[in-house]
Amino acid sequence: MITYDIVIIGSGLGGLKTAYILAKEGLNVCVLEQGKQFGGAIQNFKREGVVFDTGAHYVGALDEGQLLHRFFDYFDFNSKIKVKRLDSNGFDKISFGDQTTSYAHAMGFDNFAEHLAEKFPTEKNAILKYTEDIKDMGKAFPLFNLRSELGVGDVGKYTKASLSDYISSLTPNKRLQNVLLGSNLLYTGEEQKTPLYVHGLITNSYIQSAYRFVGGSGQLADFLIDSIRSFGGKVLNNKKVVKLEMKDSVVSYAETDGGERFYAKNFISNVHPKPTFEMLPEHITKKVYFKRVSSIENTISVFSLYIVFKKNSFKYLNHNIYHYRSNDIWTDLKYDVSNWPKSILFLTQVPNDGGDYADGATVMSFMNYSEFAKWEGTQIENRPEEYEALKKQKEEQMLDFVEERFPGIRGQIKSVYSSTPLTYKDYTATEQGAIYGVTRDYNQQSRNMIMTNTKIPNLYLTGQNVNLHGVLGVGVGAVMTASKFLGMDYLLQKIADGK
Ligand SMILES: Cc1cc2nc3c(=O)[nH]c(=O)nc-3n(C[C@H](O)[C@H](O)[C@H](O)COP(=O)(O)OP(=O)(O)OC[C@H]3O[C@@H](n4cnc5c(N)ncnc54)[C@H](O)[C@@H]3O)c2cc1C
Repeated sequence: MITYDIVIIGSGLGGLKTAYILAKEGLNVCVLEQGKQFGGAIQNFKREGVVFDTGAHYVGALDEGQLLHRFFDYFDFNSKIKVKRLDSNGFDKISFGDQTTSYAHAMGFDNFAEHLAEKFPTEKNAILKYTEDIKDMGKAFPLFNLRSELGVGDVGKYTKASLSDYISSLTPNKRLQNVLLGSNLLYTGEEQKTPLYVHGLITNSYIQSAYRFVGGSGQLADFLIDSIRSFGGKVLNNKKVVKLEMKDSVVSYAETDGGERFYAKNFISNVHPKPTFEMLPEHITKKVYFKRVSSIENTISVFSLYIVFKKNSFKYLNHNIYHYRSNDIWTDLKYDVSNWPKSILFLTQVPNDGGDYADGATVMSFMNYSEFAKWEGTQIENRPEEYEALKKQKEEQMLDFVEERFPGIRGQIKSVYSSTPLTYKDYTATEQGAIYGVTRDYNQQSRNMIMTNTKIPNLYLTGQNVNLHGVLGVGVGAVMTASKFLGMDYLLQKIADGK
């Protein structure tokens, strides 16, 4: 019987990055993935020769010297992965159904401010204050600067502050407020909940620099797995963990649905905390801590449309389009089914041949899990007709809205595919297909905070539910979890040195 140093449950980006760090440092690691495909939310799929991302469509802070680039050096990605830098003068373009203007989010803080000030000349001071504040936020969070000590700023003033109050305090100009909040799909902003830091850290990274993966973000998982195996670690698929057995108040082994047992000194779960705790004996999870963490609300889910274009028909756009039906982003998550979608994120895949025309595009919009919940338990690829009919109806509704932004686009489309909130749930086992795991809420900052440690001494958490979601967020989370075994200062030095 093998006893691993660490068993990691789940091969999402958080699980794999944590496994990479620990295996590289000589620990005997085994990753167990429930699905056939590794990578969780960064899985890719291919239709008619076009590679589509399911999550992780673009990343920030990847210019040399910036945080993600330093992480990518450490994970040995920079020499392997091909990326495409988006347009410096508008990596995101925000538009609203009630007017034809589009507003650019430009790269570089000064450039960002200059571009917006051109559109809002009387709001220059508000725009400058915003860019200074976002810059300061980036500096204030120690781990986002590879520092273990407390930062130069006061982190609490960003974690406990309301994003909506902050944006309103900058300017009464609703259009500018909505433009600043324009990339809301990146963090599911809610007026009464979202803390300032979530918006701040995420937009900070993209304003620094924004990139797409050429050939899909799933490569990150492939390269991590190759490296983990080369360090002597194991990464196994089709191993759904259903039970964490306890002995002497610690987890003794993880058992899969096939009855296999994996023994280890320590266990790290990359799975959402609620299903993780459901793997534990019932008497343990009755305690307050487990109830609190399991009851944290989840973020909304998402419906995605994947478009394959006719050859040489739709030009590749080297930027992302956020298009809103109305001039009120705070109502974005609250839709009724007849006026869905209220907003879309539209982006074209980097063309296979590097040419001027896009092979495919992805369109996303928020969607409540409840719309597809009644088909929970049905098999992927074998869903009932009623499910397929609703999915088709949603595709058409989404295309109608896309057509408003790109008149005539239907004529350029060869075929479409889509995924529902249930697809996300079934592929990643994320509660309610939640796009980014648990909700961050400034009213309940301490209650909703999920630490890497649990109340069981040898059970830890990693992934988007600790710290922050996204390629960058789960990287920082992986450092937090792995530091429990290696020491934070030691690990940060390794990352800073790129080894
Ligand atoms: C639609 C969408 C768009 C996104 N866009 C971006 C973007 O543009 N940029 C960006 O940076 N981020 C983006 N993200 C966020 C980013 O992809 C995620 O935050 C990140 O990939 C989450 O990684 P994770 O490891 O925490 O979790 P997951 O990817 O959810 O991984 C969890 C893993 O655990 C496995 N698992 C679950 N239960 C079990 C079990 N019982 N036994 C074994 N294994 C199990 C799952 O199958 C899965 O592989 C997007 C996400 C989505 C959904």
